Amino acid sequence: MDDRATSKSSAWNTPEFRADLAFQKLTEEMVVRMRAYGREESFPANAVLITHGQRKIDLLVVLEGEVHASLPAGNGEAKVFARQQRFGFLGELNLLTSQGSLLEARTATESLLLRISRDELQHLMRSEGDIANLLASAAVWRRIGIIGEETGGVTLLGRGGAVKTVELQRFLIRNSYPHRLVEVPGSEVPATDVSFDGSAQIPKERLPAVTVCDGRTLYQPTIAELADELGITELPDPGRIYDVAVVGAGPAGLAAAVYAASEGLCTIVIEGIAPGGQAGTSSRIENYLGFPTGISGQRLASRAHLQALKFGVQFAISRQVVTAEQVAGIHKLTLAGGIPVCSRAVVVASGAQYRKLSVENYTEYENRGIYYAATSMEGLLCRDNEVIVVGGGNSAGQAAVFLSGIAKHVHYIIRGKSLATTMSQYLISRIESSSHITLYTGSEIVGVEGDKGLEWVTWANRRTGETTRMRIGSVFVMIGAEPNSGWLYGTVKLDRKGFVLTGVSEGFNGTPYATSVPGMFAVGDVRSASVKRVASAVGEGSVVISDVHRYLADHRNAFPAESNSTLAALRLANAAGL
Ligand SMILES: Cc1cc2nc3c(=O)[nH]c(=O)nc-3n(C[C@H](O)[C@H](O)[C@H](O)COP(=O)(O)OP(=O)(O)OC[C@H]3O[C@@H](n4cnc5c(N)ncnc54)[C@H](O)[C@@H]3O)c2cc1C
Repeated sequence: MDDRATSKSSAWNTPEFRADLAFQKLTEEMVVRMRAYGREESFPANAVLITHGQRKIDLLVVLEGEVHASLPAGNGEAKVFARQQRFGFLGELNLLTSQGSLLEARTATESLLLRISRDELQHLMRSEGDIANLLASAAVWRRIGIIGEETGGVTLLGRGGAVKTVELQRFLIRNSYPHRLVEVPGSEVPATDVSFDGSAQIPKERLPAVTVCDGRTLYQPTIAELADELGITELPDPGRIYDVAVVGAGPAGLAAAVYAASEGLCTIVIEGIAPGGQAGTSSRIENYLGFPTGISGQRLASRAHLQALKFGVQFAISRQVVTAEQVAGIHKLTLAGGIPVCSRAVVVASGAQYRKLSVENYTEYENRGIYYAATSMEGLLCRDNEVIVVGGGNSAGQAAVFLSGIAKHVHYIIRGKSLATTMSQYLISRIESSSHITLYTGSEIVGVEGDKGLEWVTWANRRTGETTRMRIGSVFVMIGAEPNSGWLYGTVKLDRKGFVLTGVSEGFNGTPYATSVPGMFAVGDVRSASVKRVASAVGEGSVVISDVHRYLADHRNAFPAESNSTLAALRLANAAGL
């Protein structure tokens, strides 16, 4: 619909809707090239072309006539979202994913359309770069438009602030899935049942609940159930051996996926939660090259996800890999629920998690006063303010010394009795001699508060119970990171903290990212001795694909032949008792 007013979607932190980009038309020359991928079909007026919830839709280009795509508007009514005429096309983000259609499409007049099947669309996206860019850009802007409408997608009903409701909403937001939240405040839950729009009665003990586009309600769905229902998860094809399986869709995994698929490798990404990883939880990444005013982690992740989809990467989202093994040269990953994925190579990009403090409301202040790194960027945020550093290791000590030159005062909190066993002596001396640092041993933070960001912090002496509450805007938590490598125990060599050992120095296969298992590479935060930053994760994810190519070329004859891949995969699964 070319003449739409822009719709605002600020709750999502999405950009202002751009109808001009969402409803760009194909050129005549583009359509001439596209004809080679599809076939013409004629329809009478009012013919249904796409139904709500329909998965894996074909690309439909209008050659003659007019088609309308509508969103449900409540009470069985529909609201026209787009009117497409000559060289307009149907579909939005679901053109590139297996998500069910949010829109219903019908012909408004007798129409002639060009239908391009899903498989052919993949070929087209790989071969016709300019068309692929136009389709991908329109797809994402249309999704932004639908999010702005707030009637498409699903309705989430839950108690305000309840952990399960917040988890489901976070999952929908991180996957850019349109939804409307009907909040039932915790303190005001009615004695009787609550309802959607006064119709279906939902017992409050069955909240949170989600109504999907066909009116069905899922009660207390798990993330995986919701992801499957909405088509956010594209489950792996059990009859296929992928060239490369990437585990984790943080910056490292997304970069690996983009490079692998753009270089022609059949690629699947398995992600336990949502694309973006730790970076996806950062409200503003200020030090990533090319974004002088910073970029939200979520936006960076959405862009990278789209880029990967454009190149045909398959995403199995909300599925953890639970085990990995190699059988007859082929890697077999088992996902939660026992789903097998077979691939010739594996890129481990499952990242790490900073250890967090166990304090109420803690996550509310992450990146809004609670930080895990003390670089000059964070330093700017606490100039002339009082700050807290937590942790007894060298990184915490360095942060305390660094910040003591910037902040008004550093309150340095450790749980242990002294720094002697955990920190280098030179740092201990500097800390002890600084009039800008006060050390609190045997202590821990017990409270964090603030409206717009962190404002007040309370800490307690563990022995005496004495508490101190002080106005503090920044807390630096440096108590180490835990690698997400539990699924690799017993498979690859890990260092003593559980990070994956890689590289020539470990004697593995001549590349910096090779692990102890042939054909399995590790990149990003999960890799032992890696630099824990977005840029280095992206760099490693991009570079590792050349190692994967080399490995695949060297082992070409060792793999089952392409034409037998289905049988081989099935044999493998059988051999593994699946
Ligand atoms: C709040 C915060 C702010 C930050 N800010 C900055 C910053 O401003 N600048 C900067 O350079 N760095 C920043 N960092 C660090 C940066 O985000 C990380 O270094 C980077 O994200 C690492 O990328 P990665 O892909 O290696 O791992 P991750 O980002 O950790 O991604 C790993 C992914 O793997 C998935 N996964 C884990 N296990 C499994 C499994 N078994 N199966 C399937 N999937 C799995 C996880 O769900 C996750 O999505 C920040 C980190 C945090 C937490």
